[in-house]
Amino acid sequence: MPAHHSKLEKWQRVFVNRSLNMDRIKAIGFDMDHTLLMYNREAFESLAFKETLNKFILAGYPEELKNLTFKPGFLIRGLLVDMERGNILKVDGHKYCKIAFHGSRKLDKETRHKLYNSASFKAQDFLFVDTFFALSEVQLFAEIVDFMDKNPGKIQKSYKEIYSDLRRFIDLSHADGSIKNVVMSQPETFVHRDKHLATTLVRLIDGGKTLFLLTNSGWEYTQFMMDFILTDQNEEFPKWRDYFQYAIVGSGKPGFFTGSQPFYEVMTDTNLLKTHSGALHPGRVYLGGNANLFQNLTRFKGDEILYVGDHIFGDIMQSKGKLNWRTLLVVEELEHELEKLEELKPLFLDIQKKQHDREILDEEVQILRSKLASVKRHSAIASKSGDNKKAHHLDKEKDKYQEKLDAKTPLIAQLESEIKELLDRKEMTLHPIWGELMKVGLERSRFANQVEGFACTYTARVSNLRLYSPQKRFSSFHDILPHDP
Ligand SMILES: [Mg+2]
Repeated sequence: MPAHHSKLEKWQRVFVNRSLNMDRIKAIGFDMDHTLLMYNREAFESLAFKETLNKFILAGYPEELKNLTFKPGFLIRGLLVDMERGNILKVDGHKYCKIAFHGSRKLDKETRHKLYNSASFKAQDFLFVDTFFALSEVQLFAEIVDFMDKNPGKIQKSYKEIYSDLRRFIDLSHADGSIKNVVMSQPETFVHRDKHLATTLVRLIDGGKTLFLLTNSGWEYTQFMMDFILTDQNEEFPKWRDYFQYAIVGSGKPGFFTGSQPFYEVMTDTNLLKTHSGALHPGRVYLGGNANLFQNLTRFKGDEILYVGDHIFGDIMQSKGKLNWRTLLVVEELEHELEKLEELKPLFLDIQKKQHDREILDEEVQILRSKLASVKRHSAIASKSGDNKKAHHLDKEKDKYQEKLDAKTPLIAQLESEIKELLDRKEMTLHPIWGELMKVGLERSRFANQVEGFACTYTARVSNLRLYSPQKRFSSFHDILPHDP
């Protein structure tokens, strides 16, 4: 980390996978949900849970499902769902399953092992929980799995069929307004206003960047929520749209990055759509569209655009992969986790020390073992040639080595269990069930692998950008190899 930024708290920093020179960036696009608009997740997920559950009952599922309750914080992002078996998994970057639940019951080590680690693990068979919106959905799934196990025969469907109903009901709850209308009726309950957001955007504009909004949300919701978080936050930019040269709603990402859908213009006074052709006019609102057309019409080249979003699959993977847009992934959980990890620094030092001790001990044990083997061999040779005195002497030496070995070997096991205990304590401090988002014990999690693989840079919240110059050269230390000096 460059010296002048070391004064930033860790949760305020931008982390770099691939170097990014902001001086070369001309346009910065922002996703809305969970990027510019930070949700009160517990309130939002609880609402989504309740509304989706209502749809189950309306569709003829047993009335008793009404008693299922939302358990905030049961899940984290980065998990996988085995829809066939009704299981939820946390796997490391090598696809090794480390934690598994059936519904809300933890599976023991043997079962987990047999199901997921003995045969080749195909991640594509499972659903990757990579959005916040999916958390309430998967929690509801776990609750229904529990219900089905406790009440056999009450629901005559497979877990997988339940999941596909669940998907349908969630989509319906979003489409028919049963979630959005509640959020819009009391936005202060469901979203946080980041008091530094306006300052951040102004700083980027003053740094010569063109800002645009690119969201999958519909016009009315976008208008309402953006108005709530940005209008009247800055005298020079009284309305939220003053910050953004272009606003694109209903963009259908990731299709926006790969498809050829045309732009429509939203008539903001009537909320009606008009077919559109030709240049995009600054200050107007568009719907749909596609990235190639956007680049042609605005004349920004792929690597002159930085896109900021929270969804690896929808926002980052295709924009970077297909169009060479530069990317900044917002990983909201980092704020909480990095604060906790700072507190856990002494524990990490302890782990490091114990790992070091174990390494030394391992080496000592190896040396003793080879000495022992050599003495045994020589003693056998001496016996065979009738040199009993020598054989006797060597046997004594052998006993001495054996004694030392017997004393040291259990220390390794003890250190190992101490290390495991410390790691467990670390994981439990971060999340009582699933542990750290980016790690599984000492290994990287699957989520961390994806962040590293697809995002040029990542940070906990958009407003962290205000702490850096808009011309900042973000340098990656990733190119350092294990053998580099
Ligand atoms: Mg989003």
